[in-house]
Amino acid sequence: MAKQDVPELFGSMVFDDRVMRARLSADVYDSLRKTIDENERLDVSVAEAVAAEMRDWAVEKGATHFTHWFQPLTGVTAEKHDSFIAPSPDGGVIMEFSGKELIKGEPDASSFPSGGLRATFEARGYTAWDPTSYAFIKDHTLCIPTAFCSYSGDALDKKTPLLRSMEALNRQAKRILKLFGKDVKYVRTSVGPEQEYFLVDKECFEKRPDLVYTGRTLFGAMPPKGQELDDHYFGVIKPRVSEFMEELNEELWKHGILAKTEHNEVAPAQHELAPIYSTTNVATDNNQLTMEIMQKVARKHGMVCLLHEKPFAGVNGSGKHNNWSMATNDGANLLSPGETPYENAQFLTFLCAVIQAVDDYQDLLRLSVATAGNDHRLGANEAPPAIISVFLGDELTAILEAIKNDAPYQGKEKEVIKLGVHALPRFSRDTTDRNRTSPFAFTGNKFEFRSLGSSNSIACCNIMLNAAVAESLKQYADRLEGAKDFETELHDLIKEVITKHERILFNGNGYGEEWIKEATEVRGLSNLKTTADAMPHLLDKKNMDMLMSHKVFSETELHSRCEIMLENYCKTVNIEGHTMVDMVRKNYLPAIEGYLFNLAQTTSLMKSVSTKVKCNYEISTMERLSELTDDILESTVALEKALEDIKKYDEIIKTSEAVRDDLLPKMDTLRKYVDEAEMLTGEEYWPFPSYGKLLFSVY
Ligand code: ADP
Ligand code: MG
Repeated sequence: MAKQDVPELFGSMVFDDRVMRARLSADVYDSLRKTIDENERLDVSVAEAVAAEMRDWAVEKGATHFTHWFQPLTGVTAEKHDSFIAPSPDGGVIMEFSGKELIKGEPDASSFPSGGLRATFEARGYTAWDPTSYAFIKDHTLCIPTAFCSYSGDALDKKTPLLRSMEALNRQAKRILKLFGKDVKYVRTSVGPEQEYFLVDKECFEKRPDLVYTGRTLFGAMPPKGQELDDHYFGVIKPRVSEFMEELNEELWKHGILAKTEHNEVAPAQHELAPIYSTTNVATDNNQLTMEIMQKVARKHGMVCLLHEKPFAGVNGSGKHNNWSMATNDGANLLSPGETPYENAQFLTFLCAVIQAVDDYQDLLRLSVATAGNDHRLGANEAPPAIISVFLGDELTAILEAIKNDAPYQGKEKEVIKLGVHALPRFSRDTTDRNRTSPFAFTGNKFEFRSLGSSNSIACCNIMLNAAVAESLKQYADRLEGAKDFETELHDLIKEVITKHERILFNGNGYGEEWIKEATEVRGLSNLKTTADAMPHLLDKKNMDMLMSHKVFSETELHSRCEIMLENYCKTVNIEGHTMVDMVRKNYLPAIEGYLFNLAQTTSLMKSVSTKVKCNYEISTMERLSELTDDILESTVALEKALEDIKKYDEIIKTSEAVRDDLLPKMDTLRKYVDEAEMLTGEEYWPFPSYGKLLFSVY
């Protein structure tokens, strides 16, 4: 594709502002804009006019169907296609799409998880248009981004609470800005998610039932070469991968997604894509779409895109970095240190709000990224630990320390920093972005939350982050609005916040054993290692109170979400366990048997020919493999029993604990024996492609 085509291609499949402005009448455009920017109610006549234009535009682009596109709690997107056609009196059809169809849909959604929110007799939920995220065309279908709710008004998706959390933050941030003399239209959070993934050859993929059923390898010995040479990171991109990336970029650009950087990652066959940041709900929609398009385009190039957090044991897993910030409608980034003392006081207020939010709601942030897949990464010395802490860099930490102690700051000017009086030094990115082991790092003008797994929807962590920051801001606004002397009160407030929450600040190595000890024993930070440990904290009183007071979740929604997430954890591991049993009984044991037969036959044949041969290799291998087959059988039987045992609990929390304490350890044991057997068995006998083939066969 020639370079000059990109601007024309960009967003060509999106009903974006350019299209709206060009196609809608001025009145309709203005009132739609009001709905988008200021949350104003949408008039029915406006909806009719928008729907008609959307339909014409989509039909011109070759669309025949439309769908309400939503994000149920399964974590993937859902769509149900309806065609535009309606019968016309002359026996033909016309293409129809009404305002009502645009605004509201009623998918028969009884099979989506609701965590007990809906009785089956009222199984139908409804979808409602989110006009703040643009409609787009995908596979000849006009996709309308929507929220998904039950008839009683409970959210059944990830988008509804995300929008509510953005509104909560907007409300409180505006109160704070007012105190600084700024009357803004809105404050929105923005996100740029960096997405990691693996590409493997499609033929190899299809030969591995574990990859097909679970998205990760459940067995596999390490190849002689892994990632130890670091020769893949930022290395030259292989031709097949580069063709994939080129087509991926084009597809993403067509859908208005600002794909910006791409490079090889640390592990072999691992890559990363980063878009330019956008408003959180749009970034969320776009990230879901990016993951979907990645998988589709990879198939076209004879590869499969793995989005699992830990597709290969012993090789780095894939994460997602959630770069997050807050900005006003005129584009002022609230996490950007300002030029004037007053701006810096404002910056420190918002900075403190985030620090306090992360400390007060460590558990919510941790559980927002908890899945069976991500449990394999966090704390495994390749991703941040399960302990949440904040990295600010030495410079900013020293400044906070100086403010706390009313002591001179040891920077260039060496003076006592008085809020509203002194300017802060500029932070170069360099000094703030060195530590890659921190889960939550300040990187100059934004925070980067690095604990997300590659397949996580970014909605979940942003809901918690927005809500928690809204809560800090609310507390500050309540106090400062009543203050006699704003500046003194603010100074005291910031000092108090730093003193109270500095335990969450940590600039050191997050991978070290010493940190875990210090964090948990000295600082009292929480270390929720698995999904089973983390998820129940969603229902802790302090968390429920906060989320409900900002109207982000209702009580029933919280109960249902906790249940669904734990169910998802249990089901995922359960499928993995069954897949292991299946592979062992049907493939691994028979394969080892075949090799043993060959060894035994060879030995007896050789010995019958000559009395001098010792057959050391044959006999020792046979003996060890035979021991291993016994171990494999024994641990398979134990795993089968564990799979049976987890059925007996009727409380999901109990089931999840049994999955953590019984099922997963048994899976590990079984894997260990099979992987050892792989190293002793002739390659042609081994039933599945090896790690070496999976990781190094794409060129
Ligand atoms: P890296 O972390 O790999 O060094 P970058 O600094 O280029 O990468 O940025 C990572 C992501 O952060 C990009 O998606 C970028 O758009 C996003 N980003 C930059 N500024 C902001 C901001 N103010 N709010 C949210 N995301 C941002
Ligand atoms: Mg990053």
